[in-house]
Amino acid sequence: MAETVTFSGGESLPALGVGTWNMGDSPARRAHEIESLRYAIEHGVKVVDTAEMYGNGRSESLVGEAIGPLRDQVFLVSKVLPSNASAKGVAQSCRQSLRRLGTDRLDLYLLHWRGSVPLAETVEAFRTLQREGLIRHWGVSNFDTRDMRDLDSCTKAGECAANQILYSLEHRGVEYDLLKADSTRRAVTMAYSPIGQGGALLAEPALARVAARHATSTGPATPAQVALAWVLRQPNMLAIPKAGSPEHMRLNLAAPEIALDAMDLAELDSAFPPPRAKEPLEMI
Ligand code: NDP
Repeated sequence: MAETVTFSGGESLPALGVGTWNMGDSPARRAHEIESLRYAIEHGVKVVDTAEMYGNGRSESLVGEAIGPLRDQVFLVSKVLPSNASAKGVAQSCRQSLRRLGTDRLDLYLLHWRGSVPLAETVEAFRTLQREGLIRHWGVSNFDTRDMRDLDSCTKAGECAANQILYSLEHRGVEYDLLKADSTRRAVTMAYSPIGQGGALLAEPALARVAARHATSTGPATPAQVALAWVLRQPNMLAIPKAGSPEHMRLNLAAPEIALDAMDLAELDSAFPPPRAKEPLEMI
């Protein structure tokens, strides 16, 4: 995997990570999900994304089991719910996440979305966790341009390491101003649901036409690979697709091999037009 992202502190990581929403919910799928995550890590993936919300901790427990002895090879990301974003709540949630994950530290801890707790209180709680060595970096998720501006009033430049947001061909509104708002603050943008949750996006004829012009080491390119390559064309963009099977994971890991050309991009632009005005940030 050639593409990388660089965090404000200078740390570089592969731009393709993995998500784990819904993992751990089905005993029948568990073994496959663990195998899929281990396959990813063994093939160079660093970023593994989870959250206390996912399955009420079941995703974190599964991630803990999957990464086990591979922990030091992983850049581990989890998230605190806005309802737990008070000083006391953050301290408690983080410790519970660490227990489920079977580790002593998170590499990145995100506020899942903005709630009613003042940002300054949550940020101070993150700083405390950093001083205690329980988290290395902190960031936010589902923050629109105005939220990023509000964050400026209680943070130093480069302090917020990432903003995790919905970004895919179907949801391009963030191209209007949010991607720039993140990058001027040196926050890495993390794209969630980059392949449209495996839904209608993958049946779009434009994706099939572009896929037909490309191949990867896994064979003829697939619509999901094109959708991922399209997200990864953005500079300093980290994508975290979820793949519950080693087969989907293998396909996704080959997506960065696809170099979309001007004709591909024009075709995708006409099927999924870029924003022409500010659109409120969408979230799932
Ligand atoms: P994705 O866009 O990653 O799509 C996942 C779906 O696509 C699954 O059903 C998966 O099936 C399928 N899939 C994966 N690879 C392929 C492939 N190569 N070909 C065909 N289908 C494929 O959606 P998610 O919503 O899961 O988003 C990714 C991650 O982002 C989440 O898991 C979570 O970690 C994070 N997230 C964060 C949010 C936030 O608010 N911060 C909100 C939503 C997600 P299968 O499992 O069978 O492989």
